[in-house]
Amino acid sequence: MKNRCEDCGNCCIETEMILSDQDIEVIVSSHKTTLRKTDFVQKTEDNFYQLKNINGHCFFFDGETKLCKIYEIRPQGCRFYPLIYDSDKNSCVFDSECPRPEIFYPNKNIVRKTCKKIISFLENQVVFSKLR
Ligand code: SF4
Ligand code: SF4
Repeated sequence: MKNRCEDCGNCCIETEMILSDQDIEVIVSSHKTTLRKTDFVQKTEDNFYQLKNINGHCFFFDGETKLCKIYEIRPQGCRFYPLIYDSDKNSCVFDSECPRPEIFYPNKNIVRKTCKKIISFLENQVVFSKLR
């Protein structure tokens, strides 16, 4: 969750956020010996990496404070959020789970630029060919 999220945390509940190899590497290397990949990563049926949920929320979500425990090194998809790629619409949309997307994306220009980054990010993942 982001620093302007004000006690929300919706996007960290039952997360389906995908993870790139780089996301995983950054998180594991920053935790040295205290964290294994299998602690926070799961594979989907489509064979891509995703954040693991524990007790109904992301492994890294602190249920009491409602904060992300790895905010500074959170995965790229969490940084793009609440803008996501909708494969059915073949475009970027705001996730309906987020109550205040305009705080993070105040104008169309930012949306457009970030959407390009999202598509570029996904193109580098094995999953993208399956999404389109
Ligand atoms: S990594 Fe952080 S921001 Fe991303 S879903 Fe988990 S708790 Fe939320
Ligand atoms: S759903 Fe939106 S407002 Fe809520 S924690 Fe996530 S990004 Fe923040």
